[in-house]
Amino acid sequence: MEPIDSSPATSNITVRRGEPLVVVKDINKHYGELHVLKNINAVVNRGEVVVVIGPSGSGKSTLCRAINRLETIDGGVITIDGVKLPEEGKALAHLRADVGMVFQAFNLFAHKTVLENVTLGPIKVRGLKKADAEKKAMALLDRVGVANQAQKMPAQLSGGQQQRVAIARALAMDPKVILLDEPTSALDPEMINEVLEVMVDLANDGMTMIVVTHEMGFARRAADRVIFMAEGEIVEETSPEEFFTNPQTTRAQDFLSKIL
Ligand code: ADP
Ligand code: MG
Repeated sequence: MEPIDSSPATSNITVRRGEPLVVVKDINKHYGELHVLKNINAVVNRGEVVVVIGPSGSGKSTLCRAINRLETIDGGVITIDGVKLPEEGKALAHLRADVGMVFQAFNLFAHKTVLENVTLGPIKVRGLKKADAEKKAMALLDRVGVANQAQKMPAQLSGGQQQRVAIARALAMDPKVILLDEPTSALDPEMINEVLEVMVDLANDGMTMIVVTHEMGFARRAADRVIFMAEGEIVEETSPEEFFTNPQTTRAQDFLSKIL
């Protein structure tokens, strides 16, 4: 894999860097009696990398899923680039395509080749011709270092390779923002870095990212901001440096003492 390029981003994504892209306003979510998201307010600006961190069960995945409308919310508003998340239908499919999602468990289509995994969305949702979708997919697979695996089935790839395909699949839709929910948690240790390198590369390129991860190295290298969640609330929101060296709340201090 290429060494990390730390040069400033040149992509046109950065032109409008700084405007609010994802706005989460007063959202709440219950599962029966359980109040999983409690009045969450957050803004992710264009080109920003936000790391969400917090104990298991604190609502991190639910928040990600809500932003992609994989989960309904009980109150509040989520807008993506100024557009309120639609309830359903074609509008939702399009808006969802603007919000790339990468899950802990890869979630590739098991019965499609690697290449088909990456071309399917662009053909179906973005209306690309097959040849164009394939050309684009190959470029993305090359970018994440798995172009030579294009004709294989997902199960023939290592976990790290599958996760890189999942990232290429998300990028193929030209998303405005990409959400990665513990993308390295299910990987064997020796594969974590190859996925983190791809993520750092995306961050350097100006991609807007929301990343749920406990990988402090990634947070320090790539994050503009850390959001610490506990029990359905945002408890701290600060720079990675400040969060890891000088956490303000006992909940953050307790959490960090367990993971560091
Ligand atoms: P995290 O990602 O921070 O570990 P989650 O968002 O997955 O947390 O979960 C938050 C809480 O909501 C947990 O207590 C979890 O058990 C509960 N939960 C998550 N999904 C469901 C569901 N589909 N039905 C009921 N409870 C759920
Ligand atoms: Mg989770």
